[in-house]
Amino acid sequence: MAEKRSSGVEGAFVEEGSVAGGSFVPALRVPAVPGLFADEGGAKVFGNKCVSCGTPYFPKAADCHNPHCQASRMEDCAFSGKGVVWSYSVADFPPPPPHKYDKPFKPYVIGVIDMDNGLRMVGQMVDPLERVRIGAPVELVIDTLYHEDDKAYTSWKFKLV
Ligand SMILES: [Zn+2]
Repeated sequence: MAEKRSSGVEGAFVEEGSVAGGSFVPALRVPAVPGLFADEGGAKVFGNKCVSCGTPYFPKAADCHNPHCQASRMEDCAFSGKGVVWSYSVADFPPPPPHKYDKPFKPYVIGVIDMDNGLRMVGQMVDPLERVRIGAPVELVIDTLYHEDDKAYTSWKFKLV
């Protein structure tokens, strides 16, 4: 399990937390999936890119899938930044195990985002359904997915800008 530390991929203390015995206890933020994303120095996800044709991949691809690419040459790459909503849907019911969520379940928007960096990514939207529109500009963020054992487990999400 993750240890308490002030920075690094394993987790970091932030303002989120609970009040115990009259004093504020920050929740330790822990990535729900280690090694896939980070929040330090700005939200980013770890994928790769084919340096021959420039095609980006997240999660990482073992080989380039571009049928027109002559030479698959993969290089690790961190992706961040902005994009626009290409499409979206609503998760109106809880995800099946092994997925975890805070109870009671609250419906959330799942966005399909065309990123400026060339990726088309799927992720939860921070914003409520009423505010999400196709074509709306968003940015990649790291946000809480669920709480467990006084920890806030995080994932990448998208937020309207
Ligand atoms: Zn390629």
